[in-house]
Amino acid sequence: MNFHIAVIPGDGIGPEIMDQALLVLKEIGSIYHHEFRFSEVMMGGCAIDKKGEALPQEDLTICLKSDAVLLGAVGGEKWDHLPGDQRPERGLLRLRKELGSYANIRPAVLYKELKDACPLKSEIIGEGIDLCVVRELTGGIYFGEKGRRRGTMGEQAYDIEIYSETEIESIARTAFEVARKRNKKVTSIDKANVLESSRLWRSVMEKVAGEYDDVVLNHMYIDNAAMQLIKNPSQFDVIVTTNMFGDILSDEASMITGSIGILPSASLGEGKIGIYEPIHGSAPDIAGLDLANPIGMILSAAMMLRYSFDLESEAKSIENAVVNILGKNIRTRDIMGEGMHLVGTKEMGKLIADELR
Ligand code: NAD
Repeated sequence: MNFHIAVIPGDGIGPEIMDQALLVLKEIGSIYHHEFRFSEVMMGGCAIDKKGEALPQEDLTICLKSDAVLLGAVGGEKWDHLPGDQRPERGLLRLRKELGSYANIRPAVLYKELKDACPLKSEIIGEGIDLCVVRELTGGIYFGEKGRRRGTMGEQAYDIEIYSETEIESIARTAFEVARKRNKKVTSIDKANVLESSRLWRSVMEKVAGEYDDVVLNHMYIDNAAMQLIKNPSQFDVIVTTNMFGDILSDEASMITGSIGILPSASLGEGKIGIYEPIHGSAPDIAGLDLANPIGMILSAAMMLRYSFDLESEAKSIENAVVNILGKNIRTRDIMGEGMHLVGTKEMGKLIADELR
């Protein structure tokens, strides 16, 4: 099959880790007889320097015409002095808006090989952690009406949480579809004992669950969920929640897996053009030093194969290659431990690509 991928290396370590993801994809293409066509897109600080804006129109057009977008990371100190609407992150926000990416999918996996990096006790971790947070990305309190006014007790500020039925239906379907590709369990997180928006959220989740007889749905309050993630993370398969609760829970979930360098993410909309990127930033402190861990980027490419191209076996074989390499005690500096074999960004990428064969 043929796939057209918009490739955004971005800033900082972005280009280095992207090279490794492309190496792995080329290997997958040759093993499984797929043709991946890559078009490089300029976004972020590098685009500001060369073309004067974070996401030039011609680069956006390439993304809109592609089958999927693969993104390294954008940003860095060099552009921190710019006003908010001219900064590198603007490019990313515009891209998400243009692609209608309303669902953020963040798997949080703790491989047993990396148990030492996890802050939880080993009896809690058991055989590892493998859950996935599906967060609504374009609605809720972050986008509701907000403002300030004078009240009888001085200045007041307010942010309104609004969710409509169709928004909740869309994110619910995403979560159930993701669960179908995993262990078929969805936990919906809300605060339905207090919030009206949560009561609508819960009832729409129940309604959509009726379309997915093969997936089990349960509900949990956000305060309990924050605790359960630490107490018993292996009870979760797919967590689906609102923009704000998801913002907090997805960071908590990635923290318990130990390393920021190995976690991938996807932002999806109605169509199949997803944006796939590691959860970390551009790490300017280690850029150009061959120190960055490329695994988060490589696993983002695996997510792209699974969610945008429906290539489950190919995605799985990348994930297996990563686990095998970790099992051979090969580590980049960020996940280095005693008795392990230290490698750089390029070597890690090459070893994972070789492992696919
Ligand atoms: P960061 O994630 O870039 O770095 C945090 C720490 O983790 C640093 O010490 C870094 O060296 C380390 N780290 C990150 N990725 C790593 C990897 N793959 N391998 C090894 N170590 C890794 O976060 P930050 O320092 O807060 O942000 C740096 C820049 O990235 C900022 O300009 C920020 O705005 C931007 N940023 C971009 C995105 C994005 O493109 N989606 C996301 C977050 C931050």
